[in-house]
Amino acid sequence: MFRYLSFCLVNPGHPMSLERLTQDPRVAVRRLGAANEGRCVVYWMQRAQRGVDNPALNTAIEAGNAIDLPVAVFFGLHPRYPNSNLRHYAFLLDGINETRRRIEERNCAFVFRPWPEHDLIAFCEEVHAALVVGDENPMREPESWRRSASEKLRIPFWTVDADVIVPASSFPDEEYAAYTIRPKIHRLLPVFLHPLSNPEARRGWDEKNRPAGRELDPERLLDELPIDRTASPVAVRGGTTEALRRLDDFIKNRLANYDTGRNLPDRQGSSELSAYLHFGHIGPHTVALAVRDSHAAQAAKDAFLEQLIVRRELAVNFVARNPDYDTLAGCHAWARKTLEEHASDPRPHLYTESQLESASTEDRLWNAAQREMMLSGRMHGYLRMYWAKKILEWSESPEAAFEIAVRLNDKYELDGRDPNGYAGIAWSIGAKHDRPWAPRRPVFGSIRYMSAAGCARKFDVKSYIGRVDAMEQGRLW
Ligand SMILES: Cc1cc2nc3c(=O)[nH]c(=O)nc-3n(C[C@H](O)[C@H](O)[C@H](O)COP(=O)(O)OP(=O)(O)OC[C@H]3O[C@@H](n4cnc5c(N)ncnc54)[C@H](O)[C@@H]3O)c2cc1C
Repeated sequence: MFRYLSFCLVNPGHPMSLERLTQDPRVAVRRLGAANEGRCVVYWMQRAQRGVDNPALNTAIEAGNAIDLPVAVFFGLHPRYPNSNLRHYAFLLDGINETRRRIEERNCAFVFRPWPEHDLIAFCEEVHAALVVGDENPMREPESWRRSASEKLRIPFWTVDADVIVPASSFPDEEYAAYTIRPKIHRLLPVFLHPLSNPEARRGWDEKNRPAGRELDPERLLDELPIDRTASPVAVRGGTTEALRRLDDFIKNRLANYDTGRNLPDRQGSSELSAYLHFGHIGPHTVALAVRDSHAAQAAKDAFLEQLIVRRELAVNFVARNPDYDTLAGCHAWARKTLEEHASDPRPHLYTESQLESASTEDRLWNAAQREMMLSGRMHGYLRMYWAKKILEWSESPEAAFEIAVRLNDKYELDGRDPNGYAGIAWSIGAKHDRPWAPRRPVFGSIRYMSAAGCARKFDVKSYIGRVDAMEQGRLW
């Protein structure tokens, strides 16, 4: 017997608190069918890799406190997560040691089990778990792992949507565009956007029973695990402390420019938090509340929160509700039709994937964007749409363009393999969440077009290329 249920944000007194949902987790555990002879609560940490402001961890601790059991946080590392490589694992492992420390400070055990010992079910049997709490991720693979776990577990399994502010389950259908989801999100923000409580586990582990994990030695793990090594690590620190430092720096020095300066070539108008949000090193509540409560002008705050909440959660909705989120098939019929009508238009250039990957096109701006992504794990936000649209213009079909953009984005971006990436590529190539544009253009049809000349009017191309050259020569990181 198992249960697989999803709810979110469990603060005492909150309208959706565990308290109010079940009155008493002990009753819930019994009602949900567990024998309730378990000896601990397990939090299966996957996406929300942090020890603070983590609604899934909070839920596990609150449940453990209510049924007087200790909490074990289980982190199983699989070396072949789809489209991941050495670059991503190095960033992930850089953050996880700190996460362990923060979790242990909250009186929980942190158990790290890399492949081939990463099996959750075996761990739950070993520690006699009474209840498992997981965090949610709309992507295909983690969602299938959760379904499979829910079928195998014989104890209650709750999942918490810990990396969005408004839980994705609030939007059961695929949203058409930002204008359809925005009013719904704004209506629900007063319910969900609150500081999180970060409780401590009341019952700790005695040394005799504390579950053992493996040593967490990032360098050794990176050497030993059978990881794809085609993209090398970059000089960017992972972890919650670094994410909080960047958030603080952004609010003090750059938030004020956010609504007007996103096209500045030195990234003066952006937070650079996407990789930390992707790996769960920082949660959206922390970021949104810090920005909301800052002294910046309201227009700058609103512009930032629109991206962090509305656009980001629209992307989550797209991936959660559209099974074709990573191919052109996930885009609107009108967009596929207009692309199909222009499929045989002559292309100004036709590049192979390896020419694109090695930044060997005729377009210096595009090459610089591609080089920046390969070197630093991050492409300037202003250029991402231009980058993807040019791949459409230079590939033999829109389907192929979509696939190439996904492969390169996922491989080199630290924040790749994320709902935002699939939504961003679908937006650029297949007009997802966008509308038809006139006049019709060769190759693009009614899809919004972007030219190098148009980019140059709004963006200091020369200075940007100079920065990427300097980065390549090791003069600037
Ligand atoms: C072709 C293309 C590919 C993209 N690939 C990715 C990707 O792989 N991973 C990724 O996280 N984002 C991706 N984006 C969205 C966006 O460009 C990045 O989130 C942003 O540039 C990250 O930089 P930042 O953290 O400084 O963002 P900021 O401008 O400081 O914004 C703060 C946060 O808001 C969210 N956000 C910002 N812009 C968007 C957006 N357009 N859609 C959804 N959420 C947004 C991000 O989580 C971001 O960290 C892509 C966009 C396009 C057009």
